[in-house]
Amino acid sequence: METQIWAEPYKIKMVELIKMTSKADRIKAIQEAGNNTFLLRSEDVYIDLLTDSGVGAMSDRQWAGLMMGDEAYAGSRNFYHLRDTVEEYYSYRYMVPCHQGRGAENILSKILISEGDYVPGNMYFTTTRLHQELAGATFVDVIIDEAHDASSEHPFKGNVDFDKLNALLDEVGADKIPYICIATCVNMAGGQPISMENLKQLRQWCDLHGIMFVHDMTRVAENAHFIQQREEGYRDKSVREIVYEICDLTDAATMSAKKDAMVNIGGFLAMNDEKFYEKACGLVVVYEGLHTYGGMAGRDMEALAIGITESVQDDHIFARVGQVQYLGRKLRDAGVPIVNPIGGHAVFLDAAKMLPHIPQEHFPAQALAAALYVESGVRSMERGIVSAGRDKITGENHKPSLELVRLTIPRRVYTQAHMDVTAAAVLSLMAQRDQIRGLRFEYEPEMLRFFQARFEKLV
Ligand SMILES: *Cc1c(COP(=O)(O)O)cnc(C)c1O
Repeated sequence: METQIWAEPYKIKMVELIKMTSKADRIKAIQEAGNNTFLLRSEDVYIDLLTDSGVGAMSDRQWAGLMMGDEAYAGSRNFYHLRDTVEEYYSYRYMVPCHQGRGAENILSKILISEGDYVPGNMYFTTTRLHQELAGATFVDVIIDEAHDASSEHPFKGNVDFDKLNALLDEVGADKIPYICIATCVNMAGGQPISMENLKQLRQWCDLHGIMFVHDMTRVAENAHFIQQREEGYRDKSVREIVYEICDLTDAATMSAKKDAMVNIGGFLAMNDEKFYEKACGLVVVYEGLHTYGGMAGRDMEALAIGITESVQDDHIFARVGQVQYLGRKLRDAGVPIVNPIGGHAVFLDAAKMLPHIPQEHFPAQALAAALYVESGVRSMERGIVSAGRDKITGENHKPSLELVRLTIPRRVYTQAHMDVTAAAVLSLMAQRDQIRGLRFEYEPEMLRFFQARFEKLV
C-alpha cells in the first residue's frame, strides 16, 4: 500500500500568494532573527515548514462552520457539537475546551501532580514536560532505545520499554506516579507511532498498579494510519475505528487541535472520570475561560468539530502521510541522512551526521536550519540540544542523542512541486555543508528557550 499513489482527495478553491526572496534579503533577515527561524517574519519565508501547528488548510465545510458560530458567553451550541464529536470519534465522555494543547497540559498537570511525583512518558515533548516540571514532577523517559537511534528501522519507535517503566515503579513506587503520559505519533522521536499491542499492554500495566493512563492525542490519526499499514490484524480496519480504539484504551487526553484536527487555534482536555472533569471545570475558568468555551470562540469550536471528522478519513490521512513519505524518500534516495522510518508529519534531517565538524555544544541543527533558510527561503526548525533545554536541577544542557532539523509539512497546504523544491534546496546545502559554521547563544530565555533564543555565528 505504501507505493500506492497518494493524490490529494480535494481540489483547490482559493490560493494564497507567496513569493521568493533574494539571497541577500535572506542573509539580512536571518541576522535580524538572531539565526533563529522562529524569529523570522513569515513574509520573508518562501516555503514554510517550521511547523504543522495551526497552519493546516481548512476545508470549505470548516469555513462554513465559522459562519455558524454561536458566540454566547455560556452554553454555546458549538460547544455541545464539539463535545458530542469528541465522544463519538474519540470515546472520551467529558471535555473542556482550551486555547491550545499547552492550556490542557497546564490544567492536567496542576490537577494530577503533587510535588515530588514522577511522570513517565514515551520521550519528552517541550511544553508537556515543562508543565509537569512546573507542577513539581520529574519527567522520566521510558521510550524504547530504538527511538533515540536515527538509523533504526523499528516500525513502532513510539513504544514504551516496560523494563524502564518497571524500573521506575520499583524505584519510586506507584504512589509517586500519578499517571503515565503517552503520545501517539511521537513528535520528538521523528513522528514515530506506538503500536496497539504496546498500548494494550500499557492499559493492563496501569490497571495493575492503579495508575492513570493519559494520552497526548495531538497526532492520533497519523498514528492510526501507521497501525493500519504495519500492525498485524489492522489492515481492514478504518483509521476512524483505530483512532477510537486507541482513545478507548486511555483514561484522559490532551489535544492540540492545531495539528491533526486542522484548525488554526484550539485544543481540549478530555476524560472519562466525572470527578476529574469537575476539577478541570474549576481550573479552566481560572486559566482559559468558562468550561463551555475555554479560550475558544464558538466559531472555532465549530470548525474543530468538523475538522475532527475530516481528520480520520482514510483518504485524507493516506494523502497527508503520503506527501511526507514522498519528500522523505526523495531526500533519502539522494543520500541525505534522515530519521528512519520516515515519520507521519515531518521529515527529520540528521544534523549530527550531516555536519560532523560541528560539536553538539555549537548547535549543529540550529545552524543547519538557519543555513537552509538562507540557501532557499525554506523555513524549518531545530529539534536537538536547543529544544531539549537544561536539566531542572543541575542547570546543565540536556544532551539528546537526536540532533535534528525538522521539515514539517502543514496539512493540505503545499503541492508536490513544493516538495521537489524543498528536496533540491536540501541537496544543494548538502554539497556545501562543510562551510556551515556553529553558533553560540547571544540570548538564552529561561523556559522553552528554542522559541525566542538568539544566536551568533562562530568564526
Ligand atoms: C504541539 C504539541 C503540544 C502542545 O500543543 P500547543 O497547541 O502547541 O500548545 C503537545 N504535545 C505535542 C505532541 C505537540 O505536538
